[in-house]
Amino acid sequence: MSSVLILVDHVGGVVPRAVGELATFGKRIGSVTAVICSSKSADLIPQLSTFPIDKVIVCDGVEFEKYSVGATAQALQAIVTKESPRAVLITSSARGKEIAGRLAVRCDSGVLTDAIDINAELIATQPVFGGSTTVHSSVTNGIPIVTLRSNSVDVEASNSSPVVENVSVTFDGVDKALVTSLEPAVKGGRPELTEASIVVSGGRGTDGNFAPVEEFADLLGAAVGASRAATDAGWYPHANQVGQTGKTVSPQLYVACGISGAIQHRAGMQTSKTIVAINKDADAPIFDVADFGVVGDLFAVLPQASTVLKAN
Ligand SMILES: Cc1cc2nc3c(=O)[nH]c(=O)nc-3n(C[C@H](O)[C@H](O)[C@H](O)COP(=O)(O)OP(=O)(O)OC[C@H]3O[C@@H](n4cnc5c(N)ncnc54)[C@H](O)[C@@H]3O)c2cc1C
Repeated sequence: MSSVLILVDHVGGVVPRAVGELATFGKRIGSVTAVICSSKSADLIPQLSTFPIDKVIVCDGVEFEKYSVGATAQALQAIVTKESPRAVLITSSARGKEIAGRLAVRCDSGVLTDAIDINAELIATQPVFGGSTTVHSSVTNGIPIVTLRSNSVDVEASNSSPVVENVSVTFDGVDKALVTSLEPAVKGGRPELTEASIVVSGGRGTDGNFAPVEEFADLLGAAVGASRAATDAGWYPHANQVGQTGKTVSPQLYVACGISGAIQHRAGMQTSKTIVAINKDADAPIFDVADFGVVGDLFAVLPQASTVLKAN
């Protein structure tokens, strides 16, 4: 069976759930070969055992120490040449998309970014124009390189013990821009916004008081997001902004609290599986995309919802 390459990117030695999603998509297409470009492979390989992966290719090198996207693209190109996979799947992070673009140039292949699905015929599904339109697209030149958004599929449970192969790569140049140091952001107990399966967001309707939003989020194990009105007002960090100029999220559940639902906000959350809106204006546009809506004051609704969650 032809293989599909998936790139195992990691943050501080931790393999994100998104890699399991790539493996799950990959299984639809062929046997799954995970590629690790890192000197931390001994820490990373055991973390892959719950994902449906048939083989692991490890490429070690000091070039990866600086989180070089160029080095990773070069290594992937060498592995693509060796393996002739049906496709290469990469997580749709900013870094993943840069690697995909560089790899596409090196392989003279087409690249599709921000897909939320891909089928066995290598047809990808992409939301475009701020999520208002869905397109189905395929690569017509070379080996398809596709980046997939986190939270797009349930990870197929597996108990794999993949074959591990080491490859060495000769690098043909250095990047002009390298990361000189990398310190993971100090996090609270909340999940990363783009990977969380539940996101609770607050907008101008919070009037700067995110306490009920945070309490509700914590009871659900959710990440906290914010509209641009809230981040521009300094009520919440810009890193938590959801939307066209913020982050794109696609969780199982998105709860919008005191957010009107402007097109620029919807661009970042419209592909969420279930959307719940709490807004005191029954005509707010957020209700057009919501699966469930509560017309009411978030300062009355959220504490009641939190009380129910605490009681269960
Ligand atoms: C180029 C560009 C890029 C942009 N990028 C983004 C982006 O990335 N993300 C983003 O979010 N926006 C973005 N915007 C801004 C966007 O157009 C909106 O202005 C913004 O999303 C509004 O935020 P909001 O819904 O919190 O505020 P508002 O539009 O003011 O809505 C507040 C809502 O809260 C409700 N409300 C008030 N009090 C309560 C209460 N007590 N209980 C319940 N409901 C209440 C109101 O009925 C209202 O619907 C962008 C704009 C531009 C021009």
